[in-house]
Amino acid sequence: MSAAALAALLCARQPCVALTGAGISTESGIPDFRSDTGIWAEVDPFEVASIQAFRRDPVRVWSFYRQRIHALLAAEPNAGHCALAELEQRGLVQAVVTQNIDTLHTRAGSREVVEVHGSIRSAECLGCLRREELDGVLAQLERAGTPVCAHCGEPLKPGVTLFGELLPPGALERATDLARAAGLVLVVGSTLEVWPVAGLPLEAPAFAVVNLGPSALDDQALLRIDGSAGQTLSAVLDELG
Ligand SMILES: [Zn+2]
Repeated sequence: MSAAALAALLCARQPCVALTGAGISTESGIPDFRSDTGIWAEVDPFEVASIQAFRRDPVRVWSFYRQRIHALLAAEPNAGHCALAELEQRGLVQAVVTQNIDTLHTRAGSREVVEVHGSIRSAECLGCLRREELDGVLAQLERAGTPVCAHCGEPLKPGVTLFGELLPPGALERATDLARAAGLVLVVGSTLEVWPVAGLPLEAPAFAVVNLGPSALDDQALLRIDGSAGQTLSAVLDELG
């Protein structure tokens, strides 16, 4: 019933932009951050994933991200990622704005992906602003543990947004433009607690939320489905036929 309602909304309120969070990737075996079993229950983000920690001790930050990059690369896109790629192909989803750094949307076949918290696909030098692609980063991680800039020798920073950092230039602007021009923002797998991204659904005339458990904006959602991304979006595709 609710999948049918969401399918109808998708057709009626074009263009639709998806906004995804950690909840869409938990079905790929990637832990989320804020639940009882999440990453931040195990380690303190300000010790391993903040810009202050990186400036103080890049080796420690990279020992965390080295493990994390390998775990993310070993994960596979799930039914939720694939359904969003299929919806894009059918012209029903214009773009995916994601808080996730895992690149699984791209690997599932989504073409228009806005990574508002960056991604693991590259690392950057805060000294000269050069970027190193993931292959080069991985090779350096194997050899030395901490990748450095080939140009100036400064430690490279993971290409993800660390706590205390601004979002990547352009990404939030692009996401905001997409949300403002959308008829519907489809939130998938996000509790909508991390700002400014959590405010994006409010830029659109309406939004729907698919998430296991409550989100911070449920009372303002046009439609709310308490369910897994994979099951719910697969059911939506079935409804669309
Ligand atoms: Zn440099």
